Amino acid sequence: MSQNLEILIQKYYLLKQQNFNEIERNLLNIANSQNFKISCKKKCDYCCIAYLIGPEIEIELINYFINNTEYLKKKIIKNIKKWLDKILKFENLINQIKEIIPIIGCGAPSIEEVRKYYSLANEYLKLKIKCPFLENNICLLYPVRPFVCANICSITAPKLCKNLAADRKILKSSIPPVVIAINNKIVFYPIVEKIFEKIN
Ligand code: SF4
Ligand code: SF4
Repeated sequence: MSQNLEILIQKYYLLKQQNFNEIERNLLNIANSQNFKISCKKKCDYCCIAYLIGPEIEIELINYFINNTEYLKKKIIKNIKKWLDKILKFENLINQIKEIIPIIGCGAPSIEEVRKYYSLANEYLKLKIKCPFLENNICLLYPVRPFVCANICSITAPKLCKNLAADRKILKSSIPPVVIAINNKIVFYPIVEKIFEKIN
C-alpha cells in the first residue's frame, strides 16, 4: 500500500467517525420530532441482509481494518467463501446489480436507473442472506462499517424487520456520506467481493 493511500485512509477514518456521530444525532432528532423511539439494539441483525455497495475509499478502509488482525482476516475469508456459495444460485440477479453499480455510484443516474437499482436491491433483500461480516449477531466491522449500514434505523419492532413487513418504518438520516476520491476518481464497487479479492 502506498504511503499516500494510507494517509487518505487515516483521514477518511476520522471523517467517518464524525459522520457516524452526525448520523446518530440526526436519526435521533428525526425520531424524537415524530414522537417515536428507535428500536435498534445491539445484536439485532435482521437488517444485515443487504447487498453492500460502496465507494473505493470505504473498501480501502475496511481492507486496512481487516488486514491489521490475522484472526479477523481468517474469519472473514471463511465467512465470505460461504456467502459466495450462497449467492452463486442467484447469479443473474447479482450480475444485474453489478451492472448498475457504476451508474448509481459515480454518474448522475436517471430516475429509471435508480428505480431499477432499488428494485434489484429489494429482490436481494428477500433472499435474506446474512452479511458475511456478521458473527454471533455482531458486526465485525462496526467501527468502519459501510455508510449504508450506519445510515438507517427502525422505529418499529425488530420483528417487522425480520419479516420484511411492508409496514416496518425505517428512517434514513439526511446526512450525506463522507467520500474521498482516490486518484481523483470516486468509483463504487460491490463491497464483499472487492474485500475478498483484497484479503484472500
Ligand atoms: S433496523 Fe431493524 S433489524 Fe436493524 S437493528 Fe434496527 S430494529 Fe434491528
Ligand atoms: S457490514 Fe456490518 S452492519 Fe453492515 S450489513 Fe454487514 S454485518 Fe451488518
